[in-house]
Amino acid sequence: MTQQLELFNAEYRLRERVSTKARNIRIEVHPEREVVLVYPRWVPRADALAFLQSRTEWVRAKLDAFAERAVADPLPPLPRWDGTDEILLRGTLVPVMVEPARLRHLAVRIEAERITLFVPSQCQDQPQRLALALKRELMHRAQLDARRLLNEEAQRLGVYWRDLGIADPHTQWGSCGPDGTISLSWRLVMAPPAVFRYVVVHELCHRVHMDHSERFWALVEQQLPDFDQHRRWLRDHGHHLHHYLPKRRARGA
Ligand SMILES: [Zn+2]
Repeated sequence: MTQQLELFNAEYRLRERVSTKARNIRIEVHPEREVVLVYPRWVPRADALAFLQSRTEWVRAKLDAFAERAVADPLPPLPRWDGTDEILLRGTLVPVMVEPARLRHLAVRIEAERITLFVPSQCQDQPQRLALALKRELMHRAQLDARRLLNEEAQRLGVYWRDLGIADPHTQWGSCGPDGTISLSWRLVMAPPAVFRYVVVHELCHRVHMDHSERFWALVEQQLPDFDQHRRWLRDHGHHLHHYLPKRRARGA
């Protein structure tokens, strides 16, 4: 169970989350100048806030780094749904065409070089519905890509996986549960395929080592000698994947 409280601060937006799973107080800094303070239920709120206070310099440095990166690597404009948009698909910017159609429901066609939305008249002027339809179709593609990659890489590594969840987490690209359940961000379908593959290999290597020890990284490297390049891509460009079709903010629970 989580509880969210929102506070506003001159420098950033603070969100608090009381977690039943967290074992320590944790601070997450997100590129959109949002700071999330996660703390276990047994930690008094005042202690969590004091902890955040004690990390002010660290938070500021992180926010500054994001701001610098934003200047060096500006984000594309948000979709206007007028046929001039472009979106990242498997590492390539492709145009998003919008075509009026005599259909009962919105339809989305994804091809390697373009995405086309076929929009019935009742959906025109409803950007939220267009965004949702596109997101659903991309999630479906992510699911297919992920399954294929998981099967290929699990075989190469000699491990098994159990279930696949396609989600939209804010800070992680993937996770691996102790029972072999793999969860991946649908946004990886926008990244270059080699980057998606790296995340899959990373999670599958957790089937052997459930930590980020040297042995773990040695195994990742054995499977993907150039993994560091893909890891860096996510660090440097990952925020672009969150910029497109932004996640709707969770309301306070
Ligand atoms: Zn990991």
